Amino acid sequence: MNTKKHIQIYTLFSGSSGNCTYINCGGTEILIDAGAYSRATEKALNSLGSSLSSIKAVLVTHEHSDHIKGLPVISGKYRIPVYAESACALKIKGVKPFLLNTFTPGEEIEIGPVAVSSFRTFHDSSSCCGFVVKYSGHSFGYATDTGRLSDEIYQNLLPCSAVILEANYDRDMLFSGSYPHFLKLRIASDTGHLDNDRSAELCAFLASHNTKRVLLSHLSAENNTPEAALRAVQRSLADCSCQLSVDIAQRFMPTELVDLYV
Ligand SMILES: [Zn+2]
Ligand SMILES: [Zn+2]
Repeated sequence: MNTKKHIQIYTLFSGSSGNCTYINCGGTEILIDAGAYSRATEKALNSLGSSLSSIKAVLVTHEHSDHIKGLPVISGKYRIPVYAESACALKIKGVKPFLLNTFTPGEEIEIGPVAVSSFRTFHDSSSCCGFVVKYSGHSFGYATDTGRLSDEIYQNLLPCSAVILEANYDRDMLFSGSYPHFLKLRIASDTGHLDNDRSAELCAFLASHNTKRVLLSHLSAENNTPEAALRAVQRSLADCSCQLSVDIAQRFMPTELVDLYV
């Protein structure tokens, strides 16, 4: 009998049109965010051999619609518990109170054999979190929607072998692009999004420690390209002579971070 456990982590949707990540740790299945509608999410899960009826929990980073627009129906129809930071939970509408659980960043949540810890990111929402998922001796990190990085973010991601990390915009493309000035400032602010260069610096740091693979995610369709994001990371890796497998999360298609048997 095959006693090996399947670990799968895939982004299902990524970007300002919707964000959702699927995690399967030996049969315990979790979503981070539900930023696509129920039917599209079900279809994406089906393509990986899963379905919404198998999901045990949805972890929420923050209340912006690209992260929770599918949440009320997905949670309500399939009776899936939702976990959100307390201030964020107050802003979430349409989720049945008995399904809504709150946490404080730093606190560990247990979902079956999976331990999830959270840390603060910096974004213009009521609060915003990243996550570290621990299972069977492995750690995986998730950090998007952050205008800046902190020691806490670095330290939380440090032990992770694989990380989903925001690379939202290329600074030159943003400031020479067509967005209104106020929006450019909002995106580039300390509570906006992470640009390619800072994402690349973090990649080099992680690669020089425990991280083997990074999926760059939440790329802006207007102010970034997959090539620009990858170039920034390759430059940064060349500077530190580090090895890292890097890929880009597709906007509307499942993209693999991890798919292995342990
Ligand atoms: Zn946001
Ligand atoms: Zn977002």
